[in-house]
Amino acid sequence: MASFKISKPVSPVLIAIFCSMILLNCSYNIARAFSNKELAITSIGIPAVLAAMRAHYNGTSVKKALIQAAFGGYLMQEGFKMAPKLEEKPAWYAWQAKIMVNLGASLAESAGDDFVYRMDIGPVWLVADGRNIRLKPAINAVLAPIVHVFEGSKPDWGRSLKYGTLAFERSSSRDGTLNGTGALAYSNANTFTTNRNGEHSGHELVHTFQYRRDAMSPLRIGNLITEIDERLGDTWIDDTGWSISWGLQCAWAEYKDKSKDFDIPFEKEAYYLEKEYRKYY
Ligand SMILES: [Zn+2]
Repeated sequence: MASFKISKPVSPVLIAIFCSMILLNCSYNIARAFSNKELAITSIGIPAVLAAMRAHYNGTSVKKALIQAAFGGYLMQEGFKMAPKLEEKPAWYAWQAKIMVNLGASLAESAGDDFVYRMDIGPVWLVADGRNIRLKPAINAVLAPIVHVFEGSKPDWGRSLKYGTLAFERSSSRDGTLNGTGALAYSNANTFTTNRNGEHSGHELVHTFQYRRDAMSPLRIGNLITEIDERLGDTWIDDTGWSISWGLQCAWAEYKDKSKDFDIPFEKEAYYLEKEYRKYY
């Protein structure tokens, strides 16, 4: 085990978020289903609460921050609804959804502060404020593609360009699972791997959108471990929110004897969106 020292006292904000995540998990457990209500809570409710807390902490208008974050959250929610059917749609439609999710997330995470547009594109993030536009590497975004290549996946440039996120392909076995994985397709936050036909891209895209949404989560490695935050400085983006949340959800599944491929909130959201919105293409 690596011995990371948590040198910063855990803030009440972190405790509040942690408790709300546990509560949310419990509610999923009881409801056993994901609906538009949970989609609104994760896309609009939580970002709005985070923005209100940030505005309160910064001494700016809480009401203004709430409205901006809720509007951003609404854009994200609509982008999420588009994701499952993108497999059958042309590239411009996929980019429209991607830009909507990134604009929504940027509005939400900037609420109560100066507006900064941040968009993940493969291993780097495009960051634009009022003065300049920069490309910055991000931790998860750089590591995930390396892991995919080591696992034996081949970059799929056509699909990467279509979806605006790094896509990989792998040959599949007779039962349809990707060789050596037991999965039909899979995602490592900002990247995904499918078979040659790109089946299940829509489902995996939901995970890449969750990754963008969770980049605003206070449960990021740099927020939890000060030394990492200092090393990252202004050069790197801390995009570890999704991975930390996924790790916590898997730990919860293990503890509750649930499946991490079907029962955790990230998967429930992806399957719900597929079931509900893919039929309209
Ligand atoms: Zn999934």
